[in-house]
Amino acid sequence: MANPLYDALFGPHEGRATPFLILPDGREISHDAFLKTASRYASAITAAGLAAGDRLAAQVAKSPEALAVYAACVKAGVVFLPLNTGYTPTEVSYFVENAGAKLLLADPPAAGDLAPVARAAGAMLETLGAHGDGSLAEKAARASDNFPPAAREEGDLAALLYTSGTTGRSKGAMLTQKNLLSNARTLVNYWCFTAGDRLLHALPIFHTHGLFVATNTIAISGGAMIFLPKFDTEAMIRLMPQATSMMGVPTFYTRLLDDPRFDRPLTRRMRLFVSGSAPLLAETHRAFEARTGHRILERYGMTETNMNTSNPYEGERRAGTVGFPLPGVELKITDPETGVESPQGEVGVIEVRGQNVFKGYWGMPEKTKEELRENGFFITGDLGLIDEDGYVQIVGRGKDLIISGGFNVYPKEVELILDDQPGVLESAVVAAPHADFGEAVVGFIVPAAGAAPDLAAIEAALATSLARYKQPKKLILIEALPRNTMGKVQKNALRDQVKGLFA
Ligand code: ATP
Ligand code: MG
Repeated sequence: MANPLYDALFGPHEGRATPFLILPDGREISHDAFLKTASRYASAITAAGLAAGDRLAAQVAKSPEALAVYAACVKAGVVFLPLNTGYTPTEVSYFVENAGAKLLLADPPAAGDLAPVARAAGAMLETLGAHGDGSLAEKAARASDNFPPAAREEGDLAALLYTSGTTGRSKGAMLTQKNLLSNARTLVNYWCFTAGDRLLHALPIFHTHGLFVATNTIAISGGAMIFLPKFDTEAMIRLMPQATSMMGVPTFYTRLLDDPRFDRPLTRRMRLFVSGSAPLLAETHRAFEARTGHRILERYGMTETNMNTSNPYEGERRAGTVGFPLPGVELKITDPETGVESPQGEVGVIEVRGQNVFKGYWGMPEKTKEELRENGFFITGDLGLIDEDGYVQIVGRGKDLIISGGFNVYPKEVELILDDQPGVLESAVVAAPHADFGEAVVGFIVPAAGAAPDLAAIEAALATSLARYKQPKKLILIEALPRNTMGKVQKNALRDQVKGLFA
C-alpha cells in the first residue's frame, strides 16, 4: 500500500547496511537497524490503540529512538507532534489538549508531572528516555519489526508542528505528507545532498529545522547524520573532520567562531554550512569566511511552510540576504494594508505559495482564514524586500514594526547601524509606548567582549545616519539578548522591560 512520505524517505533504505546515524561515541546505526526499530515502535504504538490520523505528542530527549518514533509515526500514518523539551507541564497541557493527542510520550523523570496532564486531556502516557529506556521502549523491544506501511495519501497529515510562539501563542501547523515530501525533494537537489553526505546534526528534533530540514533531506539522500544530543562546542570540533555538511542556527556559528581551534584545516572536508531559524549577522558571515574559507548558506523558512528561500549552492551567497525563492515556491512582497503586490525594492509582507505551504492551523479556522489566502498564498507576517538581483532580504517581523509619530521604523535598519558602532557586539531595537509619538524606538546594545561602548558617541553617530524619528530615544546596555533554543531573539521580553519608559 502506498505511503508517499515513507516510501520516499525511508522505504528505499530498508535492509541497507549503510550508516544512517553516527553517534558521538562512534557507534553507527545502519539504515536497516534504524528502520527495524522504527517498525517496532510503529507496532507498539498501533498495539496501544493509535491509528492513522491520531496524534502522538512527544516531549522527549533527542535520541536515535526519539527519531525512530518520528519514522514510526510516518509509517503508521500517526500524526507526529513533537514538543520543545523546555516546555513546562502547564505549557504541555495546552498542546496535548489543543491537539487532542491520543498519546503523550514523556521523559521518564517527567512522567510524574505529566501524568495529570495526560489524564486531564484523555491521553495515554508512555515514556521514552534519552538512552532508549522507558515504557514505550520496553513495549517496542517486544514488538514485531515487521510493520507494513499504512496506506496514506499526499494530502493526509503527517505532522502537527506548533510554531515557536515568538509573536504570541504557538499555533499548530497542519503539515501534510506532500508538504514535507516536496520540500525534502527540493532541498536535496538544491543543496546537492548525496548518499555520501555526513551531516553534523546538533539541532533539536522538536523544531522544523532539525526535524524536517535536516532529517528529511538526509533521509531522502541516503546519507547519514552525525547525531549529537545537543550543541556542544567540544563535540562539534571533535566530529567536524568526519562531516561533510552542517545545519545550524546563527548561535552555533558564533559559538564555533569563539573557539580558536575552529579553523580552515578543521573544516577542510566540509562542503556546506547552512544557517537559518533566525537572522545571521552579516558580520558573522564575513568572520566565518575569513576564518574557514567557507561562505555560510543562509536560507529562510518557518513551521508553516518548511523552507521558502535559499542562497544558491553555486553562485553568490550574499550576506544579509536569504537568497532566492526555492524551485516550486512563489514569493511576493505585498502591501500589508491592501494586499497589493509591492514594486521591487520596496518593503512589504512576504507571501509564499507552493506545495510546501501547510494546510492550516489546527482548530483555528479564523486564524487560518486571516493568514492563508484562498488563492493559496500564505501571509508569513515577515517583512522583507526583493533586491535588484532578486535576493530576498528580511527586515523583521510585522509585529516588531515600530510606528513612531506615524512613521514606520524597521528595527533591522537601526540594528544594522548599531551593530557597526565601536564596541558593539549586537543589538535589538524595539518599540516602547510613548505618550506623544505612540511608540518610540529603544535600542538594546550588547557590548563586544571586554568593550564598554560609549553611548553618547553612538547617539551622535546615529544622529548623522538616521532620520530623527528612527533614532532610539534611549539606548540600554544589556549583557546578552534573550533568546529561545532556536536562537530567536525574544523581543516581547525586551518590550516588557521598556513598557513604562515613556508612557
Ligand atoms: P510564532 O509564529 O509562534 O510567533 P516563530 O515564527 O518564531 O513563532 P518558527 O516557525 O519557528 O516560529 O519561526 C519562523 C520564523 O523565523 C520566520 O517567520 C522568520 O521570522 C524567522 N526566520 C527563519 N529563518 C530566518 C532567517 N534566515 N532570517 C531571518 N528570520 C528567519
Ligand atoms: Mg511564525
